[in-house]
Amino acid sequence: MLKFEQYARPASTKEAYGLLQENRLATVIGGMMWLRLSDRTIPIGIDLSGCGLDRIEETDDAFVIGAMVTLGQLENHEAFARMTRNVFTDGVHDIIGTQFRNLATVGGSAYARMGFSDIVTALLPLDTWVEFTGAGTMRFADFVNGGAARDVLERIVVRKHDYRASFQCVRNSATDFSTLNVCAALWDDEWHLAVGARPKKAKFLEGDDLGLPREFTPDELAAACERARYLNYGTDRRASADYRAELAEILSRRAILTAANQLDVESELRLAAEAAKPKGVIQ
Ligand SMILES: Cc1cc2nc3c(=O)[nH]c(=O)nc-3n(C[C@H](O)[C@H](O)[C@H](O)COP(=O)(O)OP(=O)(O)OC[C@H]3O[C@@H](n4cnc5c(N)ncnc54)[C@H](O)[C@@H]3O)c2cc1C
Repeated sequence: MLKFEQYARPASTKEAYGLLQENRLATVIGGMMWLRLSDRTIPIGIDLSGCGLDRIEETDDAFVIGAMVTLGQLENHEAFARMTRNVFTDGVHDIIGTQFRNLATVGGSAYARMGFSDIVTALLPLDTWVEFTGAGTMRFADFVNGGAARDVLERIVVRKHDYRASFQCVRNSATDFSTLNVCAALWDDEWHLAVGARPKKAKFLEGDDLGLPREFTPDELAAACERARYLNYGTDRRASADYRAELAEILSRRAILTAANQLDVESELRLAAEAAKPKGVIQ
């Protein structure tokens, strides 16, 4: 059972950060959905719910997501979903159920960087940045690769672009962890690809590591998907490393082709509105 010897609900992230530095075993509390499964005694739990981090703000150039925003809040944010081509909504769709997603937080998920995470994979290939109280602002990819420790994650910032993007995953059964997940995104004329649930932490490919030009030939696509296949995979009770490697190649191809075939957001909205118009009454 999880026990707290002391509970703190600071009014600012600065105060929360101070408490975190004072005690080596102090622990930040997000939605507590993962934390509550542990069996230990924590000297002080630092609840961020009083720090005003529960809002999604849209600015001229970004969506600024407070760390305490729930998965449910973000998956149902229409403008964010439209811009990011539903990758977050598709990524979290099978995580337990609505009530669970209304408690688990985007900050807790991003900070924990769990190997099976669909959230990390969905956010990695976008132009995503994270803001910490101590370490300041860094690219999410740099944080996933090891940046920042014993810190308070304040916000996740997804910069605006004309994204083409797609999230794909395979689960052995609904609501199980992903056996493998992939997200591809095209922005600023460059492709970005994340492969997660390997079962280790997601890997991120872009630029020369991915080697996929904006407009690609079938051979170039095959070479990029092969790079995803040759990332390092592991075996666990969900799948073997070989099966994961196969999935990585297939899901990467599916994600890239789905994204490449998308029109710009305005054209897709116009086509959807035209398709929804009544077709006239047949006399
Ligand atoms: C049964 C179950 C099934 C799940 N299935 C999936 C799944 O299929 N796919 C998937 O992607 N995820 C899955 N998850 C994970 C879930 O989506 C959340 O990522 C997870 O619960 C963490 O979010 P939380 O808000 O509950 O964080 P918490 O449990 O509160 O915290 C998690 C960790 O992050 C730290 N932390 C939290 N917030 C901050 C912050 N702002 N700054 C610094 N540190 C912080 C905490 O100290 C803790 O170490 C599952 C979780 C459970 C319990």
